[in-house]
Amino acid sequence: MNRQQTILIVEDNEQSRLLLRDILTHYGYAILEARTGVEGVKVARKCLPDLVLMDIQMPEMDGITATRMLKADQGTNRFTIIALTSFAMSGDREMLLEAGFDDYVAKPVDTRQLPQLLKKYLDIGRDGE
Ligand code: MN
Repeated sequence: MNRQQTILIVEDNEQSRLLLRDILTHYGYAILEARTGVEGVKVARKCLPDLVLMDIQMPEMDGITATRMLKADQGTNRFTIIALTSFAMSGDREMLLEAGFDDYVAKPVDTRQLPQLLKKYLDIGRDGE
């Protein structure tokens, strides 16, 4: 059996963070949380998650800067980082990929589509074995 995989949620909006945590724990993932880009980079370096879900607009440091930092660092540059984008940013695909994001999902997050997307990048815990 695979070890439980860990997803780091970097998101300043509490409601959004709780929703993501509920969905992802249901699918068997272990969850880490951070509320700013600075905290996200810190937790990512320390805890080495299998995948990062990264909000864009956050206090202290935005998700684009945080992702650039993680992708520039040898210890963390292989992490899969998926952007959580607002509707207004849906046209900015090129910019997100250029910043180093591996993929992106639009908020509000579709609770069925997100686990499907994660399966592309992770060995899913519960229903995909
Ligand atoms: Mn935000």
